[in-house]
Amino acid sequence: MPASPSPRKTSPKPTSAPRRRSPAKPVSVITGGAGFLGSHLVDVLLARGHRVVVIDNLITGSTDNIQHLAGNPDFRFIKQDVTEYLYLDGPVDFVWHFASPASPIDYLELPIQTLKVGSLGTHKALGLALTKGARFLITSTSEVYGDPLVHPQTESYWGNVNPIGPRGCYDESKRFAEALTMAYHREHGVDTRIVRIFNTYGPRMRLEDGRVVPAFVSQALRNKPITVFGDGTQTRSFCFASDLIEGIYRLMMCKDASASNPCNIGNPHELTMLQFAEEIIRATGSKSRIVHKPLPQDDPKQRRPDITRARQILQWEPQIPLSEGLVPTIAYFRSRIGA
Ligand code: UDP
Repeated sequence: MPASPSPRKTSPKPTSAPRRRSPAKPVSVITGGAGFLGSHLVDVLLARGHRVVVIDNLITGSTDNIQHLAGNPDFRFIKQDVTEYLYLDGPVDFVWHFASPASPIDYLELPIQTLKVGSLGTHKALGLALTKGARFLITSTSEVYGDPLVHPQTESYWGNVNPIGPRGCYDESKRFAEALTMAYHREHGVDTRIVRIFNTYGPRMRLEDGRVVPAFVSQALRNKPITVFGDGTQTRSFCFASDLIEGIYRLMMCKDASASNPCNIGNPHELTMLQFAEEIIRATGSKSRIVHKPLPQDDPKQRRPDITRARQILQWEPQIPLSEGLVPTIAYFRSRIGA
């Protein structure tokens, strides 16, 4: 007599078969996920199969940057200041701490919030990572190098920062955030990453955030004078947002033994601000002329990332030249201005 088949083997018609549970999706928490860079990371992580929780108090971020995700079952938005205790149910695999004012105008207007999010906010985000056993990444900045005396800037350079100048609130908050991150790594064994972000541009930058890209592009689109600060010989190196996010993603996922050490991510193509103004006039076909305004205090004279480390441990380097990245950036600002 044939052995009676187990219920599992008997019947299942394809239609009635129990659904096999898909492996759990990784859960990412992104502080500042409604901001310029945070919201681009949200899109990339959702596309790569993560569930994403954004925590943002919207003081410089905007729901405009995430509204296209409304109704997505893998996306959740919590409006909260990350300097307050962070409580979340369920597992968390990655904490990406992006929250901070990031433009000189913003952090001049919000110096205390800037210091608080880098200190208290980083503490809360690290605490969340520790509690959940999650990997943690802090978005630090090239500003930790201050007005650099080493050029290009390597991660081993300790910087030249004026702690009490107008930019000190940002520079020191990020330097503190790096120190706290390393303390949690060493003391609690949290798996941590520190990315030092250089100047970045792309769609979703705030039109009025005062940074040079929105300033020059909006002036050019309105055929208004382009305001170059100082004599315009100071340099910056601009990375397109998608290149930057790819570099940050790879750093978070990197298993290299040295991955917890800081890593520069940026584009080494360096321009003076005068050259940049001319590039924006060309790319927009503007009739604007260049005018000079006083150079803000402590404005770094030169900035260019040395990305040897990112090349080595992440096999990463930027792919998008300025002329290409400006196309969607200008289109975005054009749509915001209605020009
Ligand atoms: N800048 C300028 N005109 C502007 C805004 C900025 O010439 O309307 C200069 C600024 O002095 C700095 C550079 O552009 O040398 C980049 O400034 P941004 O505020 O974008 O960021 P930073 O790199 O200084 O943090």
